[in-house]
Amino acid sequence: MIPAPFDYVRPASVEDACRVLADAEAAGDEVKVLAGGQSLLPLLRLRLAYPSALVDLGRLPELRGVADRGDHVYIGALTTHDEVMRSGVVREHVPLVALATATVADPAVRHRGTFGGSMAHADPAGDLPAVALALDCVFVVRSSDGEREIPAAEFFVDYLEPALGPGEVLLGVRVPKLGSGWGFHYEKFHRTAQAWATVGVAVAVRRGDGGAIEEARIGLTNMGPTPVRARVAEAALRGVAPSPAGSNGSDPLREACAQADAGTSPPADLHARPDYRRHLARVLTRRAVGAALG
Ligand code: FAD
Repeated sequence: MIPAPFDYVRPASVEDACRVLADAEAAGDEVKVLAGGQSLLPLLRLRLAYPSALVDLGRLPELRGVADRGDHVYIGALTTHDEVMRSGVVREHVPLVALATATVADPAVRHRGTFGGSMAHADPAGDLPAVALALDCVFVVRSSDGEREIPAAEFFVDYLEPALGPGEVLLGVRVPKLGSGWGFHYEKFHRTAQAWATVGVAVAVRRGDGGAIEEARIGLTNMGPTPVRARVAEAALRGVAPSPAGSNGSDPLREACAQADAGTSPPADLHARPDYRRHLARVLTRRAVGAALG
């Protein structure tokens, strides 16, 4: 299909972009920011969105790139998935981001789609929002009124609804480094190699000196209208000492991970019913925790 007509603006700076967005807001116009276009353009073609103008951030190099900033890694919003997954800084310091990004779609989408676009789109089926939640990332946003930070726990408000005001641009994301002793894994169940997640599980887990789990963080993809933290399973995993399944078949990790779907409200669609998604969340969490523990 062909999109409804729209104006096209390509600002020369973030300030310009914010000014255009502020003017549009004052005039009551619906204007959308364009990054890689991998999600927005299909919505325009299907006429599920018909903004009066697109503000293309594509020529703003200050929004692009990865930087090691001591206690966190900063990922500019316009950094493509391909750049993120190949970044040595990301792979070394925040490997969960690299693992999940490598599962996004196919090389063509990863070369155009951006880290910030995936977050701002706030699709619960997207792989990266669950990672941001598990790692307690911080979103840095700017409008004509100035800059502010939004913790990941407050960023994903509802289905396709981030906590961005109409005049706000996502500048980048701070991804905290968790330090040594942590293991990571992203487990994704999808129908075909390049498809969206039916369910995905992002795990970061740390053992204490005695070998028992001291802290677990679990973010779930496609288990509700937003990405969700599996807080009940996280609590149940604390103190569990991973060991081979007992002779009676007991597996304390599996028992704790069996609570991964607690408090979720998974969707029903062509690919899975809610009860199947719940089953997947439990099984995939057990697998992801096992892989993260190595
Ligand atoms: P755009 O499409 O340009 O924008 C998306 C939304 O975010 C728009 O509302 C836009 O206004 C807003 N936005 C973008 N950047 C900013 C910003 N800096 N500040 C404020 N608002 C902003 N994703 C997955 O996670 N897993 C998959 O398996 C997957 N499979 C895919 C398969 C296909 C065939 C396609 C086309 C896409 C797939 N995607 C998948 C989505 C892909 O990851 C997109 O890159 C991502 O959803 C959006 O990024 P984008 O840069 O293209 O954003």
